[in-house]
Amino acid sequence: MQTVDRKLIDAAIRDQFPILATKVHGKPLTYLDNAATSQKPRFVIDALDRYWTGQNSNVHRGVHYLSQLATLEFDNARESVRRLLGAAEADEVVFTKGCTEGINLVASGLVHGSGDLRLGAGDAILVSTQEHHSNIVPWQLAAERTGARVIPIPITDDGEIQLDAYLDLLKTARPKLVAVKHVCNALGTINPIKWMIEQAHAYGALVLIDGAQAGPHLRINVQDLDADFYTLSCHKIYAPTGVGVLYGKRPLLESLPPYQGGGDMIRTVSFEGTTYAGIPAKFEAGTPNIAGAIGLGKSVEWLEQLGGGSLDSAFSAIEAHEAALRSEAEAILAAIPGVRIVGTARDKAGIVSFTMESAHPHDIGTILDSEGIAIRAGHHCCMPLMTRFGIPATARASFALYNTMEEVERLESAVRKVQEMFA
Ligand code: PMP
Repeated sequence: MQTVDRKLIDAAIRDQFPILATKVHGKPLTYLDNAATSQKPRFVIDALDRYWTGQNSNVHRGVHYLSQLATLEFDNARESVRRLLGAAEADEVVFTKGCTEGINLVASGLVHGSGDLRLGAGDAILVSTQEHHSNIVPWQLAAERTGARVIPIPITDDGEIQLDAYLDLLKTARPKLVAVKHVCNALGTINPIKWMIEQAHAYGALVLIDGAQAGPHLRINVQDLDADFYTLSCHKIYAPTGVGVLYGKRPLLESLPPYQGGGDMIRTVSFEGTTYAGIPAKFEAGTPNIAGAIGLGKSVEWLEQLGGGSLDSAFSAIEAHEAALRSEAEAILAAIPGVRIVGTARDKAGIVSFTMESAHPHDIGTILDSEGIAIRAGHHCCMPLMTRFGIPATARASFALYNTMEEVERLESAVRKVQEMFA
């Protein structure tokens, strides 16, 4: 199965990504910063070009030809995202400007909501120590506004969520909400979210999954996971920047109050009182990022084509390809004296974080850049996680489906060069 699937991805796939032919400092670009954002295939770039040159118009407003065309493409995109997430209906897919906005939308909804969907004084919100700032700070803001408490779930030295501590917190703190990542952007850990959701539900908590780093790497099925909310950062899934997705179960989205007011999110407006549109329009005030959403829909179609019409096949190929790159990268980096791999969870996606005894991550990043290699150096918007490991930063190589073993070898020789320079 694995051998067959991996054939879907070969070196020719790179030809579909024009930017990969770039030279950086006279060297071939080795793009290993995919956890920050991925490059875009010609299929998506051409669709954007077609949109701007032949379809541009506002959606849901005009009776004219272009508006209807743009609206059709926009609605198709929502249906494509439904397939990507395995959601029951396209109306459960809310377009946002990013993963960050999706989380803020839910946090704001729980500040202003009612009944079970309202945070109150003393309510607990569990987040893991792994979380990205975008899955911590919105909850801290919500806590400041409601008197709720944000409680971190500890992690192990390998970078896994401590599941026994999680169970204890569910029992003792009785949280209203659990907000955790599916895949850790800094360490690569794949969290056992299906089990975590099941446990949270057993204690009556809602669960929001930050799927920013799962979207590009894993086959997601929100119904199978039974996630209440699930967010995506779509520019990491071969789509343009400025578009994200919040999935929510229909009854929850229907009960949450609107996030912003404006055009498109209303049914009727009068000075006596305004009524709101149904989902998802209720959460999409104003002109949306039409081109971004259409580009996102095309990125899903492109993945489907890659899988011969099946997202299951596409993601099984992606997982196998990226797992091979990651394990090779980990093995060769770990063999370099002074290199420490940070994040050694049993289940990991294509992300390798490391430190070197002799060189700061920023120096590693700068020297790798001079070799044409793009990696990320820093805290990866995970300061509490860095604190947990007692380090200020890591160097991080993150893989996408177009990366190759040859690039892993280039990474190795560049890191060896750093080691020699700083030894
Ligand atoms: N969560 C995680 C795990 C991420 O990696 C990122 C992006 N680095 C985000 C949230 C935020 O995504 P965006 O900036 O697209 O809103």
